[in-house]
Amino acid sequence: MSSSAEPLGQGRFLREALLQEPVGERIRCNICHRRCLLPSGGLGWCRTRAHRAGRILTLTNGAVSSLAPSPIEKEPFYHFHPGSYALTVGSRSCNFGCPWCQNWEIGKVVPSAPAKFLAPDDFVR
Ligand code: SF4
Repeated sequence: MSSSAEPLGQGRFLREALLQEPVGERIRCNICHRRCLLPSGGLGWCRTRAHRAGRILTLTNGAVSSLAPSPIEKEPFYHFHPGSYALTVGSRSCNFGCPWCQNWEIGKVVPSAPAKFLAPDDFVR
């Protein structure tokens, strides 16, 4: 992971989003159940997808909010290797809007907020 933070929505955080389809002048994002219809220059509900120049881009490719081992009992597994650890990684923003969210600071990110970058290949290594 890069040691310094960079603004989201620029440079290597940008990548063309999967699952998009044009609908007239707008583009529908089919990543999640919200199926946002983005006007030119607009953002999706999650604020991580933007309609720019006729395509939807993700603004948070490789953006990591946390990377840490955590006890397996915290994860949604039932009796899976009790006493072991899982490497957990989180990105930025979320497509849910739960009022009790304990991660609200990263769950509703400002699209240009500073973040650290971790390439998927580097995460796997
Ligand atoms: S909330 Fe985000 S990921 Fe879900 S459909 Fe809307 S823009 Fe796409």
